[in-house]
Amino acid sequence: MDKVVSLCKRRGFIFQSSDIYGGLSNTWDYGPYGVELKNNLKRAWWKANVYARDDISGMDAAILMHPKAWEASGHVQNFFDLKSDCKNCKKRFKSQELKDKNKCPECGGTLTEARPFNLMFKTYQGPVEESGNEIYMRPETAQGMFVNFLNILDSRHPKLPFGLAQIGKAFRNEITPGNFTFRTREFEQMEIEYFVLPKEADKYYKSWVEERFNWYLSLGIKKANLRKREHAQDELAHYAHSCTDIEYNFPFGWSELEGIANRADFDLKKHAEYSGRDLKYFDDATKERFYPYIIEPSGGVDRACLAFLVDSYHEEKVKDDLRVVLKLHKDLAPVKVAVLPLLRNRPEIVTLAKKIARDLKQSLISVYDDTGAIGKLYRRQDEVGTLYCVTVDVQILEDKQVTVRERDTMLQERIGIEKLKEYLSDKLGTVLLK
Ligand code: ATP
Repeated sequence: MDKVVSLCKRRGFIFQSSDIYGGLSNTWDYGPYGVELKNNLKRAWWKANVYARDDISGMDAAILMHPKAWEASGHVQNFFDLKSDCKNCKKRFKSQELKDKNKCPECGGTLTEARPFNLMFKTYQGPVEESGNEIYMRPETAQGMFVNFLNILDSRHPKLPFGLAQIGKAFRNEITPGNFTFRTREFEQMEIEYFVLPKEADKYYKSWVEERFNWYLSLGIKKANLRKREHAQDELAHYAHSCTDIEYNFPFGWSELEGIANRADFDLKKHAEYSGRDLKYFDDATKERFYPYIIEPSGGVDRACLAFLVDSYHEEKVKDDLRVVLKLHKDLAPVKVAVLPLLRNRPEIVTLAKKIARDLKQSLISVYDDTGAIGKLYRRQDEVGTLYCVTVDVQILEDKQVTVRERDTMLQERIGIEKLKEYLSDKLGTVLLK
């Protein structure tokens, strides 16, 4: 984990937030490569769940919602963790995680009694900070989709089964954030609400578990590091009939990446009750009105990014050197191609290399770098997972060819400049581009 965290900082994936002020604890900023990785991940999710299907459409609801929505959802009443404080060292703990509920696991001091703590961030809407103006930062994106159910029915007239997909920020005032970007107070979720006939809920619940599990594998996560864990009855959230977590074998242990839940008709019923609106679905064929059941695959963007970073981190010995490579899937790699001149003191070589980079940029995410000797430039690109390096040397003046080096095998091939684009698009296949 330390190696991944250090690479993330060194190479510009993820920085501590407000670093120059000493940092805001457990808050992270995505740097130039981090934002590309994150965007690629979101794009891959959107492509698989929205563009590649006929039954799911995307949406983007606001972070702020009517406060009543959080009463209907149960968050005001139920979204609590129990916390205990150490009377001696003042550290705070999540009571569920304590082996001994009375003794501080760090200093042995006495703990306060467990007290409930609502995880929602509260703020005020408008200029007056009074109780009537209280509003919450959404702790999940899901509710934004439930409250739009009627709008979707009225504007698109979808037939069951159909779904809504959304990616966006969520906020939770976690008691014990940590493990880098795994648990933070501000994070991004990618969620699907899939509306189905009640009698088909179990079938779709099971198929979504498989579908989501396979999505991580299709982007290169090692199978040995991924598992499903079905929740026991006493572990289920108040709204769920059944739930399976997809877990990743992080360096700190198996932990949740995504949860797939059968939420039954809890959400639509509750929002109908609190809003006074009719949120039933009308089935044309049977002339019945009923609440559809909802299957919800709910994943974290940051957790997925972290899993892909950890999973792709690879070290190998090359001659006497240690080579660090991020073996990221081609769709996720932040940079597809880097163009590197071998001799940066030869203006004609530099000019040619810059031109090649400019041309490639039209269709691929490419970078140009001449800020070091070639060995150093390769090392840098390997560390960020760049798929191909195109090296321009003096020979180009005679044979109009460049050397293309593949990331994982380090095999090199001489390719004519004219053929370069075609060669790279052949190799990259249907890579998700800009
Ligand atoms: P956990 O048990 O780890 O707190 P959860 O079961 O409360 O997670 P859900 O409410 O199911 O999480 O949220 C769906 C997804 O959102 C999680 O699988 C996770 O990927 C992501 N997520 C939830 N809380 C956080 C957080 N504090 N930081 C980063 N990602 C989070």
